[in-house]
Amino acid sequence: MSRQTRNLLPFFLGIPMAAWVAWDLRGYGLPADSVLAVGLMAWACFSRAADLLISARTQTVHRCPDSRCSFSVRLSGVDAAESRRWQEVAHAHPHHRGV
Ligand SMILES: [Zn+2]
Repeated sequence: MSRQTRNLLPFFLGIPMAAWVAWDLRGYGLPADSVLAVGLMAWACFSRAADLLISARTQTVHRCPDSRCSFSVRLSGVDAAESRRWQEVAHAHPHHRGV
């Protein structure tokens, strides 16, 4: 999957889901602007959810080795050298919160 396809896919996946939600509201006699607002909200939610799911498949996460510290770095689209550099950053990051 190309980077452009990966960036546009969540945008287009949200459209039919938002249309489905807006279509379900047609029987309730709501004003058109309310249906539009709900449809746009549904589009934003479904698009964001699709983006998170797609990103989860392609991301690399480097965490602080201390289990008490919540520091992490999420990367996508980087080469091995860049990933290794961020792994070292995660292992020796400033503001370590281990207690
Ligand atoms: Zn840490």
